[in-house]
Amino acid sequence: MLSTLRRIVQEVSAARDLQAALDVIVRSVSVAMCVEVCSVYLYDEDTGCYTLMASEGLNSQAVGRVTLSRAEGLVGQIGLREEPINLEDAASHSGFFYLKETEEERYCSFLGVPIIHHRKLLGVLVIQRAEQRRFDESDESFLVTMSAQLAGVIAHAEATGSLHFPGSVHKPRQPLFSGVAGSPGIAIGTAVVLAPAADINVVADRNIDDVTLELALFREALASVRESMQDTAEKLSGQIPPEEQALFDVYLRMLDDKALGGEIEALIFQGQWAQGALKQVILEHIVLFEKMDDPYLRERAVDVRDLGQRVLAALQQQQKSEVVWPDNAIVISEELTPAVLGEIPRDKLIGLVSIRGSGNSHVAILARAMSIPTVMGAVDLPWEHIENHELIVDGNLGRVYASPGSELVEQYRNLVNEEEIFGKGLESLRDEPCITPDNYRLSLWVNTGLMADTVRSLEHGAEGVGLYRTEVPFIIRDRFPSEKEQEDIYREQLTSFAPRPVTIRTLDIGGDKSLSYFPIEEENPFLGWRGIRVTLDHPEIFLVQIRAMLKASEGLNNMRIMLPMVTGVPEVEEALYLIHRAYHEVLSEGANIQMPPIGVMIEVPAAIYQARDIARRVDFLSVGSNDLTQYILAVDRNNPRVADLYQPFHPAVLQALRKVVVDAHGEGKPVSICGEMAGDPAAAVLLMAMGFDVLSMNATNLSRVKWTLRNISLKHARQLLDEVLEMDNPRVIRSAVELELRHRGLDKVLGCRSQVNRL
Ligand code: PEP
Ligand code: MG
Repeated sequence: MLSTLRRIVQEVSAARDLQAALDVIVRSVSVAMCVEVCSVYLYDEDTGCYTLMASEGLNSQAVGRVTLSRAEGLVGQIGLREEPINLEDAASHSGFFYLKETEEERYCSFLGVPIIHHRKLLGVLVIQRAEQRRFDESDESFLVTMSAQLAGVIAHAEATGSLHFPGSVHKPRQPLFSGVAGSPGIAIGTAVVLAPAADINVVADRNIDDVTLELALFREALASVRESMQDTAEKLSGQIPPEEQALFDVYLRMLDDKALGGEIEALIFQGQWAQGALKQVILEHIVLFEKMDDPYLRERAVDVRDLGQRVLAALQQQQKSEVVWPDNAIVISEELTPAVLGEIPRDKLIGLVSIRGSGNSHVAILARAMSIPTVMGAVDLPWEHIENHELIVDGNLGRVYASPGSELVEQYRNLVNEEEIFGKGLESLRDEPCITPDNYRLSLWVNTGLMADTVRSLEHGAEGVGLYRTEVPFIIRDRFPSEKEQEDIYREQLTSFAPRPVTIRTLDIGGDKSLSYFPIEEENPFLGWRGIRVTLDHPEIFLVQIRAMLKASEGLNNMRIMLPMVTGVPEVEEALYLIHRAYHEVLSEGANIQMPPIGVMIEVPAAIYQARDIARRVDFLSVGSNDLTQYILAVDRNNPRVADLYQPFHPAVLQALRKVVVDAHGEGKPVSICGEMAGDPAAAVLLMAMGFDVLSMNATNLSRVKWTLRNISLKHARQLLDEVLEMDNPRVIRSAVELELRHRGLDKVLGCRSQVNRL
């Protein structure tokens, strides 16, 4: 059954549009399940009706014509109850509603399952047969699995605006792709798709003008692959059995212009670029091979894929330098990483879209630091087909519009202007302190990682650095930076801010931050080898880094060292021992350095309960609310599917934060917060009320937070905190805080969020 399912899924994904996909489903399911009828009814929100969109077995004249209201018939019942109905005799059920046009009276047994995507009802999938016999459990689970697959296809069609109900008078909706807000702001520009290296599944379509040049590139790539395969074949001759050797000949022939090569060239002649043509032909052939009955031939699909990958790699090698960056480029990538970000010319880049990842993925944090509007986890975006299209990236609401209409563009342009005016107004606050109307003074620091944000931070009036992420210079290299290189990097950071304090965090890799030269392959990386766990296991890496930091601070004395991902006291003690060892080493080398303050990040639930024990041993605590939220709520910060559940305003998170403040202060130690929450003006009000000594955030949000806190008294913030701590629902808590800001005329600071909702 599994292979049947896989085959149907492949056929559906190869279908050219939604109608073709639905036709494939009904045909294939009826064959696979040996039933006379399989039908799909789709639900239209605008009319509140179901339409029979495809059917195998029912009268074909009824398709596209028959409609049912929301509660009508068995289909309506399934939709209302959102669960399957399985009947041996449908006509005897009280909910049965006979549809004359379909001629379904001939069929007795009935099984229908709802089609649901992200909690939204999209339609109902039904099978029927003449025989009066209840469908068994395996039928039911097969149909439920099929409907889950179909849901993705329909949701995609809906998102792209290609779902049309026959006869509907409603205007098709503007294609809108929802993701997760990654970095605030709006960008209107041109899509540039960055595909990952040599992955035949993820090649964008692109039209070309110069067919001759493209053909030449393709033939050259083919020739180089042919040559390298011939080399391999010769090297292996005599070492592998003759039948395996013969396979090389088969592959070489596949590359011929009478075989795959010819098909690819035909597509190039039609104006498709070589990589896109290759992808199309190779994927079609993979499907063909996988459908073969002979198991040996089926296995050959793997070889076709391998062949495709090789030619693609050769093409990508040639076409590497070819990315022509338009002005106002919006970069779309399957998975954006900090390294990818580093390769894009900053003067051209105005927006980012990542198909994977979520609002607190590290690349989103970097994008926020660089003020680039970003949408993460836009899983439905058909990025292969939108190269060079106009896009709107709404980083406030986490939306992407492809080829938007002029009216929408106009509305968004107005919002961009309003935002710009508000941002300009905030510039005057640069040299003002963050002081509340009742004279409470709070320190606002910044998080850094790139040299670019150091400059921006100073421009925004940062009073210190609460988190310098040292992994960024490690990620953008292809080897560990030496002690001297690290010393220079840290020195630059310390000098730029001196005499203001700079908190340098020891290397925090693992999770979604990996080094290409130090790969960590794990099933569950966020619960794995991360942060201090890695560096304590590799004292040689840790000691070099600490030595570099200490030397960099000579004569400046504005450095603080901070330890990430600490789970308990033994880790703190071990790290302190190593830091003191490195300190004595550099002193014995003649350096004149003061021992810097040492702090610990509270980002694991266990550390909340040990906050007092930890605080006693160090000079300060700093809450990493990004990780703390993910671990308290058991919600992967990187997974767009659960992005709605990632709620820093969750009562459990707020209670935890308050406990850490109370415990740190109980030990007479200062406590800061350096997660993204600190940069959210609404959250900042609560954090101030809790008693955090420092809020550290990305430079972009600094002036917004300052403006908010300068306009709300500590007294009111504390009242608000007391009120929300009585509440038990994260959404209600957020709304309560936002409402309070609105009452005080501070809603502008909530960004374009509320304003864009008008659209
Ligand atoms: C955090 O977890 O809140 C934090 C600041 O560290 P990072 O985002 O780098 O994991
Ligand atoms: Mg963290």
